[in-house]
Amino acid sequence: MVQSPIDLSPTQMQAWMGRLIERARRFGERGDVPVCAIVLDQRGRCIGHGMNQRELNNDPLGHAELMAIRQACLLQDDWRLNDCTLLVTLEPCPMCAGALVQARVGQVIFAATDPKRGALGSTINLATHTSAHHRMSVIGGVRGEEAKVMLSGWFKQQRRRSVGTGEAPFQTDSTTC
Ligand SMILES: [Zn+2]
Repeated sequence: MVQSPIDLSPTQMQAWMGRLIERARRFGERGDVPVCAIVLDQRGRCIGHGMNQRELNNDPLGHAELMAIRQACLLQDDWRLNDCTLLVTLEPCPMCAGALVQARVGQVIFAATDPKRGALGSTINLATHTSAHHRMSVIGGVRGEEAKVMLSGWFKQQRRRSVGTGEAPFQTDSTTC
């Protein structure tokens, strides 16, 4: 029988997201766009965690959501995450939104929207797209403004650093990973 994901209260969502934004802020000092994701099981236990590590590992698939999904599937010994909730600090890109559907994640909660590449409503909605064989519930904008400010602060800092070192400026002006 397929169980449903945990029913988090608004306060619990805010608390989890606050922690993720803080972790992402600290991790951003390593050079990758600061995006952090976790997967909670049906009882609210964290069973997967990921940070965007594309630059660190030279891995175009190294997005926070994919790492968290992989870890959760390994731990559950199951690729189906119907009873799980993924929380992430930025609206997932098309690759990650597709993976969330493939993994049959029950619920997705994100903070900042990504007007340029977000694929859960901003540019396209892969959760409701005709190609989606799985329906997941999506809640966006939890601590959205706070996550947006954290990301834009990181991009400003990267631009300042590249001016200081004479290196080419960071190649995106978006808040995306
Ligand atoms: Zn992604």
